[in-house]
Amino acid sequence: PTERRSLIMLFGATGDLATRKLYPAIFNLYKKGNLKEHFAVIGTSRYKFDDEKFRETVSKSVSEKGVDKKLVESFIKHFFFVTHDVTDLDHYSVLKEKAEELDKKFKLEGNRVFYISMAPNFFGTVAKNLKNQGLLTEGKGFNRLVIEKPFGRDFESAKELNDALSESFEENQIYRIDHYLGKEMIQNIEAVRFGNTIFEALWNNRYIDNIQVTLAENLGVEERAGYYDNSGALRDMVQNHIMQIVSLLAMEQPVAFKDTDIRSEKVKALRSLRVYNVAEASTNFVRGQYSASGDGETKEYREEDGVPADSNTETFVAGKLLFDNYRWSGVPFYIRTGKKLADKFTRVDVVFKKPLVDIFSFPQDGNTLLSPNVLTIHIEPEQGFSLVVNAKNGEQGFHTEPVNLDFYENSQRTKATPQPYERLIHDVLKGDGTNFSSWPEVASAWKFVDQIRRVWDIQQPMFPNYIPGSMGPVAADELLARDHREWIYKL
Ligand code: NAD
Repeated sequence: PTERRSLIMLFGATGDLATRKLYPAIFNLYKKGNLKEHFAVIGTSRYKFDDEKFRETVSKSVSEKGVDKKLVESFIKHFFFVTHDVTDLDHYSVLKEKAEELDKKFKLEGNRVFYISMAPNFFGTVAKNLKNQGLLTEGKGFNRLVIEKPFGRDFESAKELNDALSESFEENQIYRIDHYLGKEMIQNIEAVRFGNTIFEALWNNRYIDNIQVTLAENLGVEERAGYYDNSGALRDMVQNHIMQIVSLLAMEQPVAFKDTDIRSEKVKALRSLRVYNVAEASTNFVRGQYSASGDGETKEYREEDGVPADSNTETFVAGKLLFDNYRWSGVPFYIRTGKKLADKFTRVDVVFKKPLVDIFSFPQDGNTLLSPNVLTIHIEPEQGFSLVVNAKNGEQGFHTEPVNLDFYENSQRTKATPQPYERLIHDVLKGDGTNFSSWPEVASAWKFVDQIRRVWDIQQPMFPNYIPGSMGPVAADELLARDHREWIYKL
C-alpha cells in the first residue's frame, strides 16, 4: 500500500459518527499501511478534552476483540485535541498554530483534509472560517473538505449551502459523503456493466423491461426520531442514496474509469430524468407510514418517542422514475425504501424482456410461459449476483423452468472488504472523487425530489397505511400492477 501523508482536521470529534465509524476506519487504514508515520489527526469539538482524554476515546473506539494493543498505542500518538467552538473566530488561530506545528513534526507536506462531522447548519460557517482565518494550506499541499449528509433539505437550501462552501473551496476540493457509494457492491455495478459484453450489450430499452431498486430496513426510527421526522424517507434515502444508485445504473459508459468522467456521465443521466409535474408526481409516487404491529409488539410511528402524534412524515416511499433519452425511453426504474419492512437488505433487480416469441408455449399441454431473465445485484447483507435463466427441466415432454445462476462472496472475504468509511476516507486521501456526489448531481436530485415533496405537502396522506414486517402499503404494489408488472422481491 502507498502511504498517504496528511493532516486530518476533524470537526465534531466527540460525536457519534466519529467515534462509531471514523476512528475505526482511520485505524484500518493505519493497519494496512495506507497511513503510517506521516499523518496526524486534530480532533475538535466544544468538549474540554486534552490529548490524553481524546486518545482514550479513540483507543476505546478502535479496540475490538483481539486488537493489537501495541499498534493502538502507536496509532493514538497521532491524535491531538483542540477545544473549539466553530462560531468563535479566536479559536481558529489556535487550530492554525496546531496544524502548522503538526505539519512540521510529522512532515505532512502541507496536505490537509478538513472533515466536518457536525450538524449541517455548521458546514458553511466552518468552511468560511477555515479560509478567512488562514487555515488552508498554500503552496504544494492539498486542501480537501469532507462533509456529511444531509446536503440541504431542498434545492434552495442546498444551493445556499453550496454557494457558501464555494466561497472557500473549489468543487474538486469538496467531498460530499454518500456512504452508499462506499459499499463494495455499489462499486461493483460499474464492473458488472462495463466489464461484461453480455450485460452492457443488452443494457437498454430494447432488452430491459424495467429496473427495480429496493433499500429495505426492518428497524423503525430508533433514537433518530427528531431528525427523521423533519426529513422523511424521500429526503433521507431517495434524494441521495437511491438517486446515486439509479444514476450508476442509467449512465452511459464513461470515457475512462476516473472520477471526472464518471461524474459527467452520472450528471448527464440525471439531467435526462423526467422531472414530474403535479399530476405525474402524485400518480408515480406512493408514500407510507407504519402502523402498530398486529401483536402490539411495536408501536406505530406516530407513537414513537420524539414523533408528534399528528406527524405526516413518510417512513416509506415507492416511485417510478423515467429517463427521456435514447437508451431508456419507455423503461421504468421502480424504487422503494422504508422502515419497519420485512427484512434489512439492499438489492437491484434488472428485469429483461421476454423473448418476443415464446416457441415453447403449448397451452394445450399446460406448459408454463417463459420467465423473464432477471439479474439481481445483492448489495447487502449478502454480496453477490444471481441471474434467472430459462432451461428445460428434466421431466418427460418439453417443459421449461427458470433456474438460478448465482454467485455470493464468501463471508470471510466480505468481512475483509473495507467498510464504506474506510474506503471513502482513503479515496479522499488519494484525491479520488469517484465515490462522492458532485454538486450538479445533488442539484438535479433535489429538483426531482422537490416536485414530489411539493405535491405531498399539500395533499393529506391516509396514514398509517402499512404494517410492520410487510413490504409497505398496498399502493406500492398497485404502482407496478398498473403497468402489468410486479416487484421481483415480494413476500
Ligand atoms: P453528534 O451530534 O453525535 O456530534 C456532533 C459533534 O459536533 C460533537 O462532537 C459536538 O461536540 C460537536 N459540536 C456541536 N456544536 C459545536 C460547536 N458549536 N462547536 C464545536 N463543536 C460542536 O452528530 P453525529 O451523529 O456524529 O453526526 C455528524 C454528522 O454526520 C451530521 O451531519 C450527521 O447528519 C451525519 N451523519 C451521521 C450518521 C451517524 O450514524 N451518526 C450517519 C450519517 C450521517
